Amino acid sequence: MDLLNTLVDKGLRRELPTREEALAVLATSDDDLLEVVAAAGKVRRQWFGRRVKLNYLVNLKSGLCPEDCSYCSQRLGSKAEILKYTWLKPDEASKAAAAGVAGGAKRVCLVASGRGPTDRDVDRVSEAIEAIKERHEGVEVCACLGLLSDGQADRLRSAGADAYNHNLNTSEGTYGDITTTHTYADRVETVQQAQAAGLSACSGLIAGMGESDADLVDVVFSLRELDPDSVPVNFLIPFEGTPLAKEWNLTPQRCLRILAMIRFVCPDVEVRLAGGREVHLRSMQPLALNLVNSIFLGDYLTSEGQAGQADLDMIADAGFEVEGAGTTTLPAHRAQAGGGCGSHDGGCAPCGDAPADAAAEPSGIPAARTDLVAVRRRGAGTDLAPNA
Ligand code: SF4
Repeated sequence: MDLLNTLVDKGLRRELPTREEALAVLATSDDDLLEVVAAAGKVRRQWFGRRVKLNYLVNLKSGLCPEDCSYCSQRLGSKAEILKYTWLKPDEASKAAAAGVAGGAKRVCLVASGRGPTDRDVDRVSEAIEAIKERHEGVEVCACLGLLSDGQADRLRSAGADAYNHNLNTSEGTYGDITTTHTYADRVETVQQAQAAGLSACSGLIAGMGESDADLVDVVFSLRELDPDSVPVNFLIPFEGTPLAKEWNLTPQRCLRILAMIRFVCPDVEVRLAGGREVHLRSMQPLALNLVNSIFLGDYLTSEGQAGQADLDMIADAGFEVEGAGTTTLPAHRAQAGGGCGSHDGGCAPCGDAPADAAAEPSGIPAARTDLVAVRRRGAGTDLAPNA
């Protein structure tokens, strides 16, 4: 296919595809899917080999957010029956992080619900970062605390944070349909503040919220312009009790086309498969490893992922390898070591949710799979062991 040859050539040269080419990837047929995956896989292997970086989420503070992000189970007025708790103590955060590190994660992502941190909150997170770094020298720590105020990014950097995550989530044109309590511009500004402070920026999106192909291409092109080191890609988990509970729009094939498009537009960036992986890709998850070079290990913020050992087995069975702590994630031409955070399923990153039947309906509209959405009941904020 000429389109794919062109996109591979551009990806190997780190050249930006045209919007029309990106849209054409999303419009390819299921018959062409393996060709699309193979083509984007060449670009993935050029910049990241067969390495898969593992990241581990620690939800420092869950639920009760005053913001109204429609996709989020922790939002204002959410009826989702998620765990709700206030700040973990530094030793609790460190203990939770240890489970992920023991499972092979080289990055720990510390996430808290809320519009943004107070200065006292930055102190709390700084203490957690210090506790984690004391226990695990060399582990990367990313903070995801919402909108930052002046000076907070610098303080997090001084405390030892390596990265900061704040997702754009969707296109500028549709942002107001998803959230009304803050703006797209607010989000861009926070990512830029993180970059200015020397933090590795992590910013991504949520697909499956009812957006058009043009919206998806818009947000991915905006991300390329913003130039984060990592781009987490979430597939909406339509949690019961949230406004987007009925938005079951994704098939495994659609998810793979979206990931391929992102790899072509952001060829040398850490593309991280985040929330909704198990729910929407299901048995097609291993194919996605040809497109992304990073995943979360274990559970998400407010929902449970597949067993950590199943993640590790999948990586090995598909012929990939877990990226070691001594390996730099990003290609040499991208200055900073590491690569950002991401996030997931509930707080300041995306979500998931409800039970159902099987495959796609004859109409082409995917069936709801609420049976695949399990609210997190273990790990941080509980007395039960974490999944890692
Ligand atoms: S995404 Fe973050 S800011 Fe938005 S409702 Fe969820 S926790 Fe609050």
